[in-house]
Amino acid sequence: MAAIQITDIKKKYPNLQALDGVSLSIEQGEFFGLLGPNGAGKTTLISIIAGLNRADSGHVSVMGHDVVTDYRAARRQLGVVPQELVFDPFFTVRETLRMQLGYYGLKKNDAWIDEIMENLDLTNKADTNMRALSGGMKRRVLVAQALVHKPPVIVLDEPTAGVDVELRQTLWKFIGRLNREGHTIVLTTHYLEEAQALCSRIAMLKAGKVVALDTTKALLEQV
Ligand code: ADP
Ligand code: ADP
Repeated sequence: MAAIQITDIKKKYPNLQALDGVSLSIEQGEFFGLLGPNGAGKTTLISIIAGLNRADSGHVSVMGHDVVTDYRAARRQLGVVPQELVFDPFFTVRETLRMQLGYYGLKKNDAWIDEIMENLDLTNKADTNMRALSGGMKRRVLVAQALVHKPPVIVLDEPTAGVDVELRQTLWKFIGRLNREGHTIVLTTHYLEEAQALCSRIAMLKAGKVVALDTTKALLEQV
């Protein structure tokens, strides 16, 4: 069973074919890169994988669960780190993470929340309100939030866009460790260097189409 199976996805916005027949099979345990320039359709594809946006045609399943007809099961298997920093400003970091656990119908697990915060260097911000955090700290919370329900598959939309060098290093290290522990990782980026450094296989998306798909090594030999 593939971690994420994407079959002939098409999505049109009023004036634009954002996705034009995308098919990809991302295997369990892979560190997969979705590379492409701004406007290629990466965010649209991720929102469809996350069940937040509907495709016009085609299918996506996560660990065998269709994201439309079996949404709750698919969502349980998936952690998504979106690009936008959207939070309730008056909740603390800890409350934000607890609330996310509740969203999945899971019991409060403070030991686990402490562990995630520790790994993302958030411990000393645990009781700080979200509105008082810097952009970089908010991004760490976004990552933590995506992981609270221990999903086997983790999708990150441009996680290092606009972050400083230190946080980029922290995120790369942490994501790498998650992958070695067995999580499937899918990362979008418009930086070739980032995909090259992290991913074992890369799909290149351009104007809504997959224009290249190969191991990182083979792909680099072509350019
Ligand atoms: P990427 O993440 O690769 O930058 P996006 O998926 O964000 O690409 O966008 C793909 C194209 O679709 C872009 O041209 C973008 O402007 C357009 N687009 C994205 N969302 C919408 C929307 N809700 N309505 C209309 N056009 C959109
Ligand atoms: P990206 O950095 O991935 O290209 P954008 O900053 O273009 O994303 O888009 C931010 C948000 O606005 C996304 O949720 C996207 O769906 C939406 N969006 C992007 N382009 C358009 C558009 N042309 N019309 C309406 N919504 C859009």
